Amino acid sequence: MFYPLEAIFANKSIYFAGKKDLLCSYCCSLLEFYDPEKTEQRLEAPYFSILAGLNAIKHNQHVETALSKACAAILDTLDILKDIKPFAYLNRDAIRDSFSASNISLLKRFISGKDNGIDPDFTHTSTIAEFASANVQQLHAAETTEYIWGLLTFYARLFDEMPKIYEKVHHIADMYSHCDNHDSEFLFSLAFLEFRLDAAIQPNVTYTPYMSTESDGKFYPGKMIQFKTYSELIVTELFESLMIGHYPRLCWVCKKPFLKTDKHIQKYCTGLSPELHDGKRLSCKQYAKQNGAPEKADGDPYKVICKKRTECIRTEKNRGTITPEFAAAATLITQNHLTLALTETDYSLSQFKKDLERKTIYKETAEYLRQYPVISA
Ligand SMILES: [Zn+2]
Repeated sequence: MFYPLEAIFANKSIYFAGKKDLLCSYCCSLLEFYDPEKTEQRLEAPYFSILAGLNAIKHNQHVETALSKACAAILDTLDILKDIKPFAYLNRDAIRDSFSASNISLLKRFISGKDNGIDPDFTHTSTIAEFASANVQQLHAAETTEYIWGLLTFYARLFDEMPKIYEKVHHIADMYSHCDNHDSEFLFSLAFLEFRLDAAIQPNVTYTPYMSTESDGKFYPGKMIQFKTYSELIVTELFESLMIGHYPRLCWVCKKPFLKTDKHIQKYCTGLSPELHDGKRLSCKQYAKQNGAPEKADGDPYKVICKKRTECIRTEKNRGTITPEFAAAATLITQNHLTLALTETDYSLSQFKKDLERKTIYKETAEYLRQYPVISA
């Protein structure tokens, strides 16, 4: 069986060709970069060239020309889909190499029947050794043909399956955006309804220890999954994401998808809104606030992180591990970061998270206290 895609699911992430993304990123990138009209239209020309390649193999006609066009069409397809994961991660040179002159001549030998069956009575070979080497060649030709056929089929299928899978994932993200119930059982039941998994997907799963590429060098339990189609990858990613509490939503203001990694209800993304307010570009959150629909305090991810940090500072003060003066300064600095986050559109959630880590806040506090020492009465 030929599996053109293969990913490792481990550590709340998906690893593809050594690239790490948070689980659910592939669904979100499909939602963000697939344009139901434009992308589909652009995929049409390469699709016909790829079909022509398949037909040339079937009928053993104009194989070289058709396959060199089909190879170019696959590379065009990758260009068109370059923002959608994992297409950017696919190795273009490997695809070019699959259509090398030597591979195509192997394929031609195979389809013209010379290597099509095992010669039962040794008529063309005089010794066992020659027969064995002929068999290896046969096997190689058969494998090469299967591989090229598999590649062409995979890319030809995309034309048909991308609009369908996009529509389904978009529908589910839209439903998730409109419900206030975010327990995993409920999210799962919606996904089951949408995907009706009796139309089974059959990826190939192997359990594998996965060594993280980050510095800790630890082994994590992981799953290596191979896929026959792009849809299989997307459906698998969605369900694996739901299992760890990740899911896609659409922003109420700009309609762009964003990835949720916790249960706090969050209606707006952290990007810029398409609307102008008094001639100024605002973030979606600010825009919603200006228009009378602010995020609930408990749903704003910046406020949630800030609240957690100030609670930890209070706990440490009560335990006596930090002084009341130090706690007061640390709280002040935490609040300053929140103000910055709520007013500066460029201050990203990931940067904010880093700035609010215990070590970072306490280092900043120590420096602050060195500069502005507390004068005790
Ligand atoms: Zn938005």
